[in-house]
Amino acid sequence: MLKENLAQVEANIQKACEKSGRTRQEVTLIAVSKTKPVEMLQTIYDCGVRDFGENKVQEMCDKMDVLPKDIKWHMIGHLQTNKVKYIVGKTELIHSVDSVHLAAEIQKQAVKKNVTVPILIEVNIAEEESKFGIHKEDTIAMVREIATMDHLQIKGLMTIAPFVENAEDNRLYFREIKQLSVDIKNQNIDNVSMDVLSMGMTGDYMVAIEEGATLVRVGTGIFGERNYNI
Ligand SMILES: *Cc1c(COP(=O)(O)O)cnc(C)c1O
Repeated sequence: MLKENLAQVEANIQKACEKSGRTRQEVTLIAVSKTKPVEMLQTIYDCGVRDFGENKVQEMCDKMDVLPKDIKWHMIGHLQTNKVKYIVGKTELIHSVDSVHLAAEIQKQAVKKNVTVPILIEVNIAEEESKFGIHKEDTIAMVREIATMDHLQIKGLMTIAPFVENAEDNRLYFREIKQLSVDIKNQNIDNVSMDVLSMGMTGDYMVAIEEGATLVRVGTGIFGERNYNI
């Protein structure tokens, strides 16, 4: 089942790349494995996937301990400052930096461990009250402030688009955040590259790729529905 799901997602990614004149190498699939047992992650790993996304610090660390060491772990969930110390130096990318306060804590822990931490700035592009992330208008100011933290590298932006029946409804948001990342890139801020755009989930990753996503975060489409009641 998992292998078939992954093959379907892979075929869809290729289709979206072809449709938009992009190469498959420009897009990385992150298998979002939150709530799923390590056996399932291992199966997907064995199919060749190396990027996994988790949204809880404890769960991510537990899985890191038992799974292969060449996995690239992506922290995609809201991060509390008191948990930062457990993951600094262990993640490929932290997608969910949405305040100067949080960035300062990552910087502090990075200095302690003498590492550089690649991060994304999370933007609440549709301005949904239920979502984390900063508002579009505040993004450039925050990027400038965080860019002064010398143990962080701002690689780009991340967004969680609204939950919609029709993925096309999110195209406008994906376009908007792509434009925002281009605007920031054009400002040539030291320590800011804007080459990464993390957007698109199970319901809308094909549209996200057409609009410039470089990382897509797919959970349900690979692992099936999540059960939070167990
Ligand atoms: C859970 C989650 C995903 C994956 O969602 P699916 O709809 O299951 O693909 C992607 N991004 C973030 C930030 C998530 O929390």
